[in-house]
Amino acid sequence: MLDIFIIIIILLCLADIFLVVYAVNCVNKKNKLKKTEISLTSLFEKSEEKRIKAEIERDKSATVISSFNDGLIILDERDKIFLINPEAKKNLGLETDRLLKKSFQFLSDFQKAKPIASALNEGLENIYRKQIELEKDCIIELSVTPLNLNKNNIGHLIIIHDVSREKIVERMKTEFVSLAAHQLRTPLSAIKWSIDMLKKGDFGKLTKKQNVVVKSILENNERLISLVNGLLDVARIEENGYLYKTAMTDVREIIALAINSYKDEIKDKKIKIDFKKPDNFPKMMLDTERIRLVIQNFIDNAIKYSPKGGKIIISLKKDEKNIELKVQDFGIGIPKSQQDKIFTKFARGNNAIKINATGSGLGLFSSKNIIEAHGGKIWFDSKENVGTSFYFSLPFRPDVK
Ligand code: ADP
Repeated sequence: MLDIFIIIIILLCLADIFLVVYAVNCVNKKNKLKKTEISLTSLFEKSEEKRIKAEIERDKSATVISSFNDGLIILDERDKIFLINPEAKKNLGLETDRLLKKSFQFLSDFQKAKPIASALNEGLENIYRKQIELEKDCIIELSVTPLNLNKNNIGHLIIIHDVSREKIVERMKTEFVSLAAHQLRTPLSAIKWSIDMLKKGDFGKLTKKQNVVVKSILENNERLISLVNGLLDVARIEENGYLYKTAMTDVREIIALAINSYKDEIKDKKIKIDFKKPDNFPKMMLDTERIRLVIQNFIDNAIKYSPKGGKIIISLKKDEKNIELKVQDFGIGIPKSQQDKIFTKFARGNNAIKINATGSGLGLFSSKNIIEAHGGKIWFDSKENVGTSFYFSLPFRPDVK
């Protein structure tokens, strides 16, 4: 009986212990669960925070892109349209989002965007400030920038900058200059004609003093005529563009014609011109009229700024990619301090003004624009009282485009 009693007590004790262990275990598990719950909640809160932050950043970028004053189109790495901002839609007359995820070539479905599609079609690289007329008086500047992330290309950013207003104002200015210059030409010619008669003594013999004054009026009038002619040239070129009408041309012929147009001045100043004409020189595509103006300007300057009996050497060469023209003289040279401004409008060297009051300082400005519109380069080297060499190089284009 005692045995059974002891066994029952032992069993009861064991049950107690078991219950206590079980209870402790339960509490531990509960604690663990609680901890897990807490860490899960905090993890969730953190990722939610990150999500909200990312959304805010995304919304910020989207606001920046949509409120941009320029039209923006983003292409993904497969050249598919990823985003078009409202300004781009306005510029190109796109009222729909149906272009999204489509190749940029689909831009040509929209009349106004056609010229952009064909410019992009020529290659996304190397498009920088390319001017395109979308329709009358609607001109844009197109630029394409590759988007790189960790050295990997993730697409392209197309920027459409509307320059219509600037272009219209520029055109109005050019038209005004051209009109004013035209109007000035007639009275200036009349003045020149009358003073010439005075000088020749058609209205009676002039005294020595009168002669000096008449000579000075004549010189200043010549200067005005040259300035007006220079302005007219610039206006004419700016109206039609620095590259207007291209044709297959033999550059040697333009040089020969340009030399010929100065035959009187060359004779008067007893200048020796040495044109090192290459025997074989292929024709190439260029704007003959405009390039003739550049070559004439180089030769005109070389004659004007050479001493009597001076020498001018003209050479023309070609390598695989470019042609290069050099016009060298041994005249007054360009003072070092004025060399960096020489291609800007109205720039003239002090020494040049002294010996030739009639220059306009517009010839080299036009020449630079013409050469650069052909994709070429223009430069010079010069030393005062030693001489000057002017050069230009043009990419050789034997093809008709
Ligand atoms: P212009 O000769 O009518 O003044 P350009 O634009 O052709 O205008 O030339 C600008 C200036 O550059 C000249 O006034 C002169 O100071 C300088 N220049 C150009 N070519 C020469 C040259 N061959 N020798 C010396 N100076 C030159």
